[in-house]
Amino acid sequence: MPGSLSTYQGKRDFTKTPEPSEGGLTHATRLQYVIQKHWASRLHYDLRLELDGVMKSWAVPKGPSLDPHTKRMAVQVEDHPIAYNQFEGQIPAGQYGAGKVIIWDSGFWVPLSDPETAYHAGKLHFELHGHKLKGRWTLVRMHGREKERQPPWLLIKEADGTERATADFDVVEAMPDSVASEPAQRRPSRPAAKRATSSRSDKSSPHCRQCSRRNSRCWRSPHQVNRSSGPGNSNSMVTACSRASRVRR
Ligand code: MN
Repeated sequence: MPGSLSTYQGKRDFTKTPEPSEGGLTHATRLQYVIQKHWASRLHYDLRLELDGVMKSWAVPKGPSLDPHTKRMAVQVEDHPIAYNQFEGQIPAGQYGAGKVIIWDSGFWVPLSDPETAYHAGKLHFELHGHKLKGRWTLVRMHGREKERQPPWLLIKEADGTERATADFDVVEAMPDSVASEPAQRRPSRPAAKRATSSRSDKSSPHCRQCSRRNSRCWRSPHQVNRSSGPGNSNSMVTACSRASRVRR
């Protein structure tokens, strides 16, 4: 189910705001992540994770915490275009979200289970590969239904060695500035997602060419597998993931 930008576009007048109306580049092998610091009527941090061709978005009033005991409210807001990841600037007075926006952190995210299933179930477990935020995180929908207008979620750091106690280090206070001039994050050198369980059938299924995971573990659904049914032909060929890099309009 592709994400929709109609709510995003309906809130904004693109003759007046410098924000992008649509577009943005996807990568063949990774999902983008950004947090924008936004001095709107109230300062908040907008967490965005690429999924379904859009940036799923949550407004985090206090920003992320590296302390697993400090759960941060994350109110889901409208899907944003992927091009929004590059946006820094001033939303003019009188326009929706008026105020300054900077790219507070950016990079990519690695879902630790099928992200579309997890998203709809209201519990996303993932790794962040940003300039500031790293390691494992959970986003969990608190209550209410998926179709609710602005469902509340919690953003929680997992204790995985990259956590920091709030008393020792507050990432929001310690690292307040833009990362827009930093070099882009590189891909991880190892498969990031480790599954606690793996079934026998999973082990025998072919790998995806692009993400190297077993077919049933590849989250790039619909995942195309061509199996020649002819006798004597043992070719099991996995085609490229269906979401090759392309310009979205
Ligand atoms: Mn915002």
